[in-house]
Amino acid sequence: MFELTAEVVSNRSVSGITWEIVLRAKEIAQTVKPGQFVMVETRLENEYDPLNRRPFAVADTEGELISIYYDVVGRGTKRLTSFHRGDTLRILGPLGDGVFPIYPDKRAIVIAGGIGSSGVSLLVKRMAELKVETVVLYGARNKEFLSMREWYEDISRQGVEVVFYTDDGSFGRRGFPVKDLDEFVEPSAVIYACGPKPLLKYLKKYSEERNIETYLSLDRRMACGWGVCLGCVVKTGNGFKRVCKEGPVFLAKELIDF
Ligand SMILES: Cc1cc2nc3c(=O)[nH]c(=O)nc-3n(C[C@H](O)[C@H](O)[C@H](O)COP(=O)(O)OP(=O)(O)OC[C@H]3O[C@@H](n4cnc5c(N)ncnc54)[C@H](O)[C@@H]3O)c2cc1C
Repeated sequence: MFELTAEVVSNRSVSGITWEIVLRAKEIAQTVKPGQFVMVETRLENEYDPLNRRPFAVADTEGELISIYYDVVGRGTKRLTSFHRGDTLRILGPLGDGVFPIYPDKRAIVIAGGIGSSGVSLLVKRMAELKVETVVLYGARNKEFLSMREWYEDISRQGVEVVFYTDDGSFGRRGFPVKDLDEFVEPSAVIYACGPKPLLKYLKKYSEERNIETYLSLDRRMACGWGVCLGCVVKTGNGFKRVCKEGPVFLAKELIDF
């Protein structure tokens, strides 16, 4: 885990409420594993508000750079939009011991719901590099909210099958990204997902009924990000676990309440 001052390389509105920030953070870029995240200080050095860092998945890496896709939902993320190229901000990471395991010989079904697309994109990139047979089912409420669409269209040119879904049918197939799962899942497949809680709960049930190995990346509000404050615990078959430390990725069947 590194605590460093990262230079802002770019920070732009992508679409809907989503922005992409690219940071120079060499140590993190070179060590981050799919599923891991960073805690970002969204205030300037001489400010005290917002006090707590905010957690974000590392969506992609390129040399010394990491990119984060973030939805502007509150004070911290609003504050983050005011950083410009050349500014610096403090970040901590990579964080999370619970990462996505990759099985080169098993078909991977990756489900991305909304901004959860940034929680699985690094996984998809690694799968493409390793030539793992991969299908991505990426859904959002409408075309505008498919904010990583370009990124996923690019990766689809590297052998990954990507199917888009929108709730209103404005792009791709109409409906939730789990509606055609039976079309893609085979008994030895592995499911990976990041997205809204109802989507993850559906997948837990679906995978348990069919005995499909499934990994879910959880999103909980967290203050420290490295296991100290105990603010992000979930109930598992092996007791309470911290999303920031033992997670954020968990085997679906181990989760009891999340
Ligand atoms: C491991 C992890 C990875 C994440 N990765 C990303 C990412 O890549 N991109 C992204 O956009 N977001 C991600 N999130 C969620 C992100 O951390 C929150 O949206 C962010 O902290 C909100 O900060 P804020 O100050 O803007 O909002 P606040 O002012 O703190 O809250 C604004 C609203 O958002 C709600 N909210 C805040 N945090 C969360 C949360 N963690 N889960 C659900 N609702 C929340 C609040 O209840 C409130 O309604 C991730 C969260 C976790 C735990």
